[in-house]
Amino acid sequence: MRGDLGPIARAGRPSGSWVVRVAAVAIALLTACGGGADGTGGGDLRVHGAAILVDSTAPFTSRPDFPARLESTLAAALQYWGGSWSDLDRARITLADDQHVACTGNPSAIGCYEDGEIRISTRDVGSNFNCVEETVLVHEVGHAIIGDPGHTDPRWMDFSSVGQALAGRPGYDAGGEAPCNIVVNVWRHPPDSP
Ligand SMILES: [Zn+2]
Repeated sequence: MRGDLGPIARAGRPSGSWVVRVAAVAIALLTACGGGADGTGGGDLRVHGAAILVDSTAPFTSRPDFPARLESTLAAALQYWGGSWSDLDRARITLADDQHVACTGNPSAIGCYEDGEIRISTRDVGSNFNCVEETVLVHEVGHAIIGDPGHTDPRWMDFSSVGQALAGRPGYDAGGEAPCNIVVNVWRHPPDSP
């Protein structure tokens, strides 16, 4: 989907009708890529080969930029972990409303990866996350790519490059735009512990 952004970037050209037509095509491509075009409805969408289930009322999940934000966050995480989109083929990613998601052996997790499924909470303590970048998605993609349930890889305690790559984006709460505060510690996990 990244390649579809080119026509929008050229929208400053003087030919008005051409610009409108190209922009409309770009919007159609974005919709087909992420707007539940598979007919499943209920907020489901697909990013490359991954099926996304949106079971959340967090405002950022219903914003028009959500599919693109999800895709670019996944892309940054894949790059960090040395993975590619094919690694997420047939993966399932669920964004849950509850503060905790049910994971084997850990009822109070805010995210987990099990059996090809990433489940992440969209709710921080007392409030929703304001953007997908604030969730533990970047961490759970790591498990999807390298496994390592015991967190022995030193990359579990870094993430600074991902934080920089995703910084400066808007977030959303019930009132409209709100800060998207990426806290790298949300993604970090001490080594050698489950
Ligand atoms: Zn973990």
